[in-house]
Amino acid sequence: MISDDTPREYHFHGTINDMTDSSKGNGTSNPFGGLSIAIVDPGQDAATATGGPSTIRSAEGRVDAKVVIVGSGPAGMTAAIYAARANLEPVVLAGSAPGGQLMLTSDVENYPGFVDPIQGPDLMAAMRGQAERVGARIIDVDVDRVDLSSRPFRLWARGTEYRAQAVIIATGASALWLGLESETRLRGRGVSACATCDGFFFRDREIAVVGGGDTAFEEATYLTRFATKVHLLHRRDTFRASRILIDRARAHPKIEIHPNTAVDAVLGDTKVEALRLTDTTTGAERTMPVDGVFIAIGYKPNTDAFRDWLEVDPAGYLVVHDETGSRIDGVFIAGDVHDHRYRQAVTAAGDGCKAAIDAERWLEAQGITEAATSTAW
Ligand SMILES: Cc1cc2nc3c(=O)[nH]c(=O)nc-3n(C[C@H](O)[C@H](O)[C@H](O)COP(=O)(O)OP(=O)(O)OC[C@H]3O[C@@H](n4cnc5c(N)ncnc54)[C@H](O)[C@@H]3O)c2cc1C
Repeated sequence: MISDDTPREYHFHGTINDMTDSSKGNGTSNPFGGLSIAIVDPGQDAATATGGPSTIRSAEGRVDAKVVIVGSGPAGMTAAIYAARANLEPVVLAGSAPGGQLMLTSDVENYPGFVDPIQGPDLMAAMRGQAERVGARIIDVDVDRVDLSSRPFRLWARGTEYRAQAVIIATGASALWLGLESETRLRGRGVSACATCDGFFFRDREIAVVGGGDTAFEEATYLTRFATKVHLLHRRDTFRASRILIDRARAHPKIEIHPNTAVDAVLGDTKVEALRLTDTTTGAERTMPVDGVFIAIGYKPNTDAFRDWLEVDPAGYLVVHDETGSRIDGVFIAGDVHDHRYRQAVTAAGDGCKAAIDAERWLEAQGITEAATSTAW
C-alpha cells in the first residue's frame, strides 16, 4: 500500500493485486492480501515500458484505461472477468470493502457450482483470483468523485485520477445495521441481513426480525417457511410497511409482532442465543431466547459519487436503461446499486456479465476497441 497520497506512476503488468496492500504499511486492511506492483522509473514512458496496448498508460500520476469498473462484489468481479477476457484490460477500483457484501456472511448455499456451502469470503477470493488471472488490475480504493461530462470519463480515488472510455458502476448497496458490537461479532453466526440468503439455515428454529418497513414484514413472512416462530421487533408503535403486509403478518400464526421494542444486545458467545430487549415506553428490560436475528432496517445504495451525474430512483438506487445502460452513453450499471428487487450474488454476477458485454460492444461501436471481440465471450 502506498503510504501517502503523493501521485506516483505505476506500471501494471501481469497480474497485479492492489495499491493498498496492508503489508506495505499504511494500515488499511485488505482481506485478500496483496502482490507487488512495479513502479515505472520517473521519466520512463509508461505506455511503452513493456510495449503494446496491454500496458496501462499512466502519466503525471494518472491512470488511463479503456474500462474502469467501480466495485468488487460479484457484479464488479464478473464484469472484470468478462472485460479482461475481451482484452479490455479493465482497472477495478475495488472500494474500501473489497469483495462486497458476501464478505459479511459465512455459508453461501445458493450460488451455483458448489455442492457444499462455500464461505462468502472464500467465494469472493475465488472471484478476485479468477479476475486477476485473466488480467484485471484491482486497486482497493474508494472512488470519491467523478466527472462524467465527457469522454474520457474521469474518476478520482485517493488523490489519483483515473480516465476511462467506459465505466461500469457496481458499487452495491450496504445493508444498514443496528450498530451494536454484539451484532457485528455474531454476523454470519445467527445475525443476518438477508432472509432469502440465510432463512434456510433456520429450519425449525425460533428467530427474530428487526424493522418496521416493507422489507421487515416481507422477510418475517418469508421466514415462516422455515422457522417455528418469528418475532417481529420494532422500536415504535407505528409501522412504515404497507397495510396489506402488516395485516398478513398479524394474521399469521407463526408471527408475533412486538412494537415499542428496541434491541440492546445480541447474546451468545459463538452463535446467537438470545436478544436483550428494552420496552421503549416503560424502559423495562427482558431477554428473548432466539437462534437467529435478521436485521431488516433498510439498505443504503452506494451512489454518493455518482448521483450528481446519473438518475436515481426515490429510494436512491441508480436507474438503468436498456438492461445495463445509464443516461450517459458509455456508463454502465450492474448489481445491487440498481437492483433492489433480487439482491442476490448470482443476479449481481449476471448483471456484471451483461454490463461488460454491453461496454465492450459500445466501445467497439465507438471504434475504441480495435477488433470485434463480441464473439470471444
Ligand atoms: C449478510 C448478507 C448475507 C448474504 N448472503 C447471500 C447469499 O447467501 N447468497 C446470495 O446470493 N446473496 C447473498 N447476499 C446478497 C449479496 O451479497 C448481494 O446481492 C451481492 O453481494 C451484490 O453484489 P454487488 O456486486 O452488486 O455489490 P456488493 O457486494 O455490495 O459490492 C459492492 C462493492 O462496491 C464497492 N464500493 C462501494 N462504494 C464504492 C466507491 N465509492 N468506490 C469504489 N468501490 C466502491 C465496495 O467496496 C464493494 O466492493 C447477502 C447479503 C448480506 C448483507
